[in-house]
Amino acid sequence: PTLLFVKVNRGKEETRRFYACSACRDRKDCNFFQWEDEKLSEARLAAREAYNQRCRPPLSRTQCVERYLRFIELPLSQRKFCQSCQQLLLPDDWGDHREHQVVGDVSVTQLRRPSQLLYPLENKKTNAQYLFADRTCQFLADLLSTLGFRRVLCVGTPRLHELIRLTEPGDKKSNIKSLLLDIDFRYSQFYVEDSFCHYNMFNHHFFDGKAALEVCRAFLQEDKGEGVILVTDPPFGGLVEPLAITFKKLIAMWKEGQSQDESQKELPIFWIFPYFFESRIHQFFPNFCMLDYQVDYDNHALYKHGKTGRKQSPVRIFTNIPPNKIILPTEEGYRFCPLCQRYVSLENRHCEHCGSCTSKDGRKWNHCFLCRKCVKPSWIHCSICNHCAVPDHSCEGTKDGCFICGELDHKRSTCPNIGTCKKANKAVRKQKQRRSNKMKMESRKGQSMNHASVTRKKKRREGAHQYLCS
Ligand code: SAH
Ligand code: ZN
Ligand code: ZN
Ligand code: ZN
Ligand code: ZN
Repeated sequence: PTLLFVKVNRGKEETRRFYACSACRDRKDCNFFQWEDEKLSEARLAAREAYNQRCRPPLSRTQCVERYLRFIELPLSQRKFCQSCQQLLLPDDWGDHREHQVVGDVSVTQLRRPSQLLYPLENKKTNAQYLFADRTCQFLADLLSTLGFRRVLCVGTPRLHELIRLTEPGDKKSNIKSLLLDIDFRYSQFYVEDSFCHYNMFNHHFFDGKAALEVCRAFLQEDKGEGVILVTDPPFGGLVEPLAITFKKLIAMWKEGQSQDESQKELPIFWIFPYFFESRIHQFFPNFCMLDYQVDYDNHALYKHGKTGRKQSPVRIFTNIPPNKIILPTEEGYRFCPLCQRYVSLENRHCEHCGSCTSKDGRKWNHCFLCRKCVKPSWIHCSICNHCAVPDHSCEGTKDGCFICGELDHKRSTCPNIGTCKKANKAVRKQKQRRSNKMKMESRKGQSMNHASVTRKKKRREGAHQYLCS
């Protein structure tokens, strides 16, 4: 299943709607394109079906499970993993992988940590697989246990999933069950049906049909829905709206299992996302609170903890759990603000004028009396623009925001989408959107159609933009 988008031409009233892939935000990864009203010939449908079949994972979910069960029965010396194919090998397969990079003696511990055995799929416009640093992952697992959860629905959090399942028997945490929903099919080699579903979180699609959906439903509804939390860390590509719709579908699924008198209850959620998406997330989940905790990653050049001190990560946890229940590690500098009733970053000062701890990025912000709010430490009040901005801004151009994604509160160098978009088309679109004050639509990479020639593509990039249809 795809998503419906709309193509808008600058200065023209008419728009045209089309279907495109929801998971791949780059036409190079998936070039599916179809006008909404397009009639396809039998031949084209057949060709598409053949193509789709070729793109399917080589093994069915059931086959994967069978292979896994056979694999764990093998003696250590026969347990091999092909790094070239990212696949666990059974003795029958060895011949085919003789020329490949194969590692042997795959231990039980390695099998239980697939995120360390597999390489992360960093391809930014599809998987954007950024794995939690150990410190963050341990913090999350401990927090879930402290908060008393017994089941965790991990949507796009393979490393958290494995850590939850890794804890030794006897440990309080070992009572926590976890179900991983992820588009990365490689994980299906390491888990049986009740702990992994191949899933697209941009359109709530279960690749293995009804059986997989039922696994998810049963997981959410177990114990009448008591003790379960949804934890998600989606790619930061910017498709907030379809993600929100998906989470609302999962919430509805959980709600079905509730009795009447519990209708007020909410499914607890941790949505891990950059702080500059706060207003966007609030449009869909107004009661979500953004925690100050900085989520760190292993393989992200920008958000990982350097040897030379901390590189501040812009990634935060958005949640509907009351923030006073969430204790952030004091050894990392977080402290409790009794006025705000939440833990905040060391340098996040409580502003008496704003009545809250106002910093979003972890640095100390300053109150501007003219703007009547706190602003980033590097900003100064500009009397031409009538608000605070970076000192070297150009006064007409201040609304341009980040060159890559168009958001106002960060620069290109700290954008989580860095490298994903060579052209500034997304920023252009954002500006345009802002100008016309139509913020209801979700932006999407303004890529050209797959049949256009390069020059036409260029022209169109300047004039045509694409949005997700609400
Ligand atoms: N920090 C997490 C990983 C987050 S990276 C951890 O360490 O556990 C984003 C994850 O979402 C990846 O595992 C990726 O495979 C998955 N993902 C990307 N696009 C997806 C989609 N459309 N549907 C479901 N999962 C997706
Ligand atoms: Zn191989
Ligand atoms: Zn203030
Ligand atoms: Zn100001
Ligand atoms: Zn100015």
